[in-house]
Amino acid sequence: MTLPTIGWIGLGHMGAPMAANLAAAGYPLAAFNRTRETAAGLGLPLADSLEAVARQADVIVTMLGDDRAQEAVLFGKDGLAKYLREGQTVVNMGTMSPDLSRSTAERLGAKGVACLDAPVSGSVKQATDATLVILVGGDAAVLERVRPVLDKLGKKVVRFGDAGTGAQAKLAINLMLGIVMQGLAEAVVFGEACGLASETLIDAIAETPLASPVVAIKLAAIRAGNFDAAFPLKHMAKDLRLASAEAHAAKAAIPATEVVRGSFELAVADGLGDLDVIGILQSLRKS
Ligand code: NAP
Repeated sequence: MTLPTIGWIGLGHMGAPMAANLAAAGYPLAAFNRTRETAAGLGLPLADSLEAVARQADVIVTMLGDDRAQEAVLFGKDGLAKYLREGQTVVNMGTMSPDLSRSTAERLGAKGVACLDAPVSGSVKQATDATLVILVGGDAAVLERVRPVLDKLGKKVVRFGDAGTGAQAKLAINLMLGIVMQGLAEAVVFGEACGLASETLIDAIAETPLASPVVAIKLAAIRAGNFDAAFPLKHMAKDLRLASAEAHAAKAAIPATEVVRGSFELAVADGLGDLDVIGILQSLRKS
């Protein structure tokens, strides 16, 4: 069976290992990244423009930072949409607003291009191990067509409903992650301020039922003093902003998220946005 050609746009922390998994699974690939130098060292088959991606690919995956990047890549001057053909499929795997997910599906649908929002839960490790949880919004038949591709990227694919519902599910999960990261950082600064031995406290937390896989990874990062980004803090701030806006529209009460959003936005304003999400601890230590 001939595998479809995959156009892959966005080779950042997540996009690079995910695209590499598709290449390893034998999918013909046309990968593109705005900053060419980032793409050059990855050993992936590259396309030299968005037009070339659209020309070569059957299914195009975007793994970009935020709404602004997604809008620019798809609908900006010389954006991808200009070159797409009827019958192609676009799968957005970045965390975007539900509004943008819906409007993208409408605008591409008008050209006969199918579209899914399929953001992911899991970070660089899960992207590398192909154990992401993929949260899908969009037409069920379209999902069935691209499911073999998604199965090479994650351990679980869950469809929630129409366009925008995958994005909503992702925001639900990430507001919880933001609160957990804030809680972990506050436990550590609290212990430090009380004069408790940090190592001992961290070791104790690691033995409690609170030490979920993600907390265990972040405890190891705190222990090592390593705040290099797997999930950049600026993306957490963006996700909390999106969750806040969506909660407002849906009339959901999420008071802890609002407080944590303020904390993450402050950290970004203080220039800590490129640290890992648990770099929120460094922000609290400074304040
Ligand atoms: P990242 O490392 O910051 O990569 C962002 C990508 O978007 C890069 O390829 C970047 O290209 C591109 N980009 C940004 N602005 C652009 C623009 N205006 N035009 C064209 N390209 C643009 O982000 P990431 O960590 O891979 O995350 C990608 C998405 O997945 C985000 O929505 C994030 O919230 C979500 N996510 C991340 C994680 C994680 O653990 N990292 C986990 C789950 C979900 P350049 O190289 O040119 O800047």
